[in-house]
Amino acid sequence: MSLDLITQRMRAAELAAGRAAGSVQLIAVSKVQPIDRVRAVLSAGHRLFGENYVQEAQAKWPDLRAEFGAVAVHMIGPLQTNKAKVAIDLFDAIHSVDRPSLAAKIASLAQARGACPQLFIQVNTGAEPQKAGVLPADLHKFVVDCRAMDLAPFGLMCIPPDGEPTTPHFAMLRTMAADAGLTGLSMGMSGDFEDAIAHGATHIRVGSAIFGARTYPAA
Ligand SMILES: *Cc1c(COP(=O)(O)O)cnc(C)c1O
Repeated sequence: MSLDLITQRMRAAELAAGRAAGSVQLIAVSKVQPIDRVRAVLSAGHRLFGENYVQEAQAKWPDLRAEFGAVAVHMIGPLQTNKAKVAIDLFDAIHSVDRPSLAAKIASLAQARGACPQLFIQVNTGAEPQKAGVLPADLHKFVVDCRAMDLAPFGLMCIPPDGEPTTPHFAMLRTMAADAGLTGLSMGMSGDFEDAIAHGATHIRVGSAIFGARTYPAA
């Protein structure tokens, strides 16, 4: 389990970027990992995790929270509108707000609940047709629309295109967040989190570098 190593590398990257130690949040991405690996990271004291699938998270986290106490769990995968209710009850943050229909659903659920998870707007910085996220050109209007629904988005999230240098995407996300008056920057994964920290990431999402490679169940 490499939690300590990742934490050390984070501290070094914060220092190199002239940022305060501990200013970046480490989201340990536990999707499809064997439960004993997740328990090991919890036992080491870590209390912030990321999940991609509502059903998987729902099957796992109520029990783990009962056992380990308060644990923050962030939704980082695509969210279907019909799963928004479960998601709002389960997650402390949603990083994949990416369309008006989902924003409207979250707004009405949050109103009824009197509380809303922290929200990140996912931006499709590479404008990839198959990828979720608001296109950069549509972001300004989307932020305005969210605020008109009484949502208070906290930040932006991106998943840069595979096989491309990630730096331009991190730099772009940072500029867009500043322009929109948003402080959160969810960017950087196992292979590039130090670069993301250099570009202002507030939340990095690290899975395999902490837990080891993921094995997806056969379909
Ligand atoms: C799975 C996943 C991660 C973690 O990826 P690793 O390369 O294992 O660190 C981060 N962000 C998102 C959105 C993911 O789906």
